[in-house]
Amino acid sequence: MRNKIVAGNWKMNLDYQEGISLFSEILNMVGDETRGNQQVIVCSPFIHLYNIAQQSKDSENVFVGAQNIHQNDSGAYTGEISASQVKSTGASYVILGHSERRAYFGEDEKLLEVKLNQALKNGLKPIFCIGETKDERESGEFWDILAKQLKETVFLLSNEDFANVVLAYEPVWAIGTGLTATPEQAQEVHAFIREEIAKSFNQEVADNTSILYGGSCNPKNAAELFSQADIDGGLIGGASLKSRDFLDIINVFN
Ligand code: PEP
Repeated sequence: MRNKIVAGNWKMNLDYQEGISLFSEILNMVGDETRGNQQVIVCSPFIHLYNIAQQSKDSENVFVGAQNIHQNDSGAYTGEISASQVKSTGASYVILGHSERRAYFGEDEKLLEVKLNQALKNGLKPIFCIGETKDERESGEFWDILAKQLKETVFLLSNEDFANVVLAYEPVWAIGTGLTATPEQAQEVHAFIREEIAKSFNQEVADNTSILYGGSCNPKNAAELFSQADIDGGLIGGASLKSRDFLDIINVFN
């Protein structure tokens, strides 16, 4: 049975103390309850990683991730962080392919394939994001664009490595805009992604892959989105910065 996941993406928000306090609140509220195949992942700025990974090291439900890694092992890359450095904090996930990294830092499929392998080689599980812009949706080209984003990255992985990948469908037009894909629009794309996985790997792999929805997901719309057959949870930006909202989204699965 595939995991149901609610992952928070704090982006470049919260100072050190604020992040530590927010994570403690989340952990207290979620930590000890048995939640079966449900996971909560918090992807923080690098500064929080060690502290929050240590806070949650005994939790069976709550995990910690980074929002980026560099594509090389180590060396003269001032200001960058390697996958092994992230791993050494106790973090276990990393977001890759986020539309903000694609748009503002020029990350393309070629680079993302290298980063994916770098994460997996170092024991980090990628939360790999794909999604189309508003223009791409309106032109109808988005099916091809989504397929390309998959084929040139995660579909090049071995079955064994792909089993450690969580996918996130994040329509760019819905991220941070307050515009959410309707449950039907999101389900249609999630079903398409699962079919593409089945074609590239096999049906069992497709059935075991968690596919999250991201884009202005909040306590009001999460239940309907997560009730769709192929939506296995969410990647949450803005609403993950408020403990009550994030918990309400997590509790959709209870
Ligand atoms: C995100 O950036 O991954 C995201 C989904 O953001 P928001 O929830 O704020 O739209």
